[in-house]
Amino acid sequence: MDIPRIFNITESAHRIHNPFTPEKLATLGTALRLEAGTRILDLGSGSGEMLCTWARDYGVIGTGIDLSQLFTAQAKRRAVELGVTDQVTFIHGDAAGYVADEKVGVAACLGATWIGGGVAGTIALLAQSLRPGGIILIGEPYWRQLPPTEEVAKGCLAGSIADFLLLPELLASFSRLGYDIVEMVLADKDSWDRYEAAKWLTMRRWLEANPDDTFAKEVRAQLTSEPARYAAYTREYLGWGVFALMKR
Ligand code: SAH
Repeated sequence: MDIPRIFNITESAHRIHNPFTPEKLATLGTALRLEAGTRILDLGSGSGEMLCTWARDYGVIGTGIDLSQLFTAQAKRRAVELGVTDQVTFIHGDAAGYVADEKVGVAACLGATWIGGGVAGTIALLAQSLRPGGIILIGEPYWRQLPPTEEVAKGCLAGSIADFLLLPELLASFSRLGYDIVEMVLADKDSWDRYEAAKWLTMRRWLEANPDDTFAKEVRAQLTSEPARYAAYTREYLGWGVFALMKR
């Protein structure tokens, strides 16, 4: 049980598997005014950077579930590195349908809302683990500007224009689900570069170390085409943010 291998290759050196810098992750933690001892559930926790740094900086207690064996192992190593192994737990597994035994103060899914079948389904799933008055965190893309054609949307690696909303529409959609948006931190072009451009050096080094791997052709093709594709499409059209929601 694992995610497609290409992600385990291209994002193997990422601590944050999203267009957020460490600074933006810290800004989000500060913005939420987290109290020590707050329980956090993180579905699709990746390499655990959010839970580990917030455990260190704010004294929170967290559980993360992720389908990537590699990322989960990295998350456990990061917890050791930051001295927070008594505060965080990382589980390798499918987070679809996962509900915490003990209710949490913050239930999060950053950049993995397919886990609940989309934004609305993921909010409904997270809500099952949330104590009354708790905060849901959703990390999700939105269109910075609407793609003029479906080809441009596909250039952003979206299935279609309909996959994402403009920011005001995304916020309105949270509101229609009965949630107040109580905070948000948005990616910018520089933080997108940290996510996307960081893959290129990882791919180049991987190719040098694994020239005969069955995946080498695919990784080579991606490394050749990705910089121009990213600059033309994703960087211009796609935004990303984390939205903090409280039930009205
Ligand atoms: N929230 C993390 C990771 C985001 S990338 C961060 O911001 O760094 C998306 C993550 O979802 C990847 O780590 C991937 O392994 C994980 N994932 C994909 N499908 C999943 C599933 N069904 N259950 C749990 N994790 C999943």
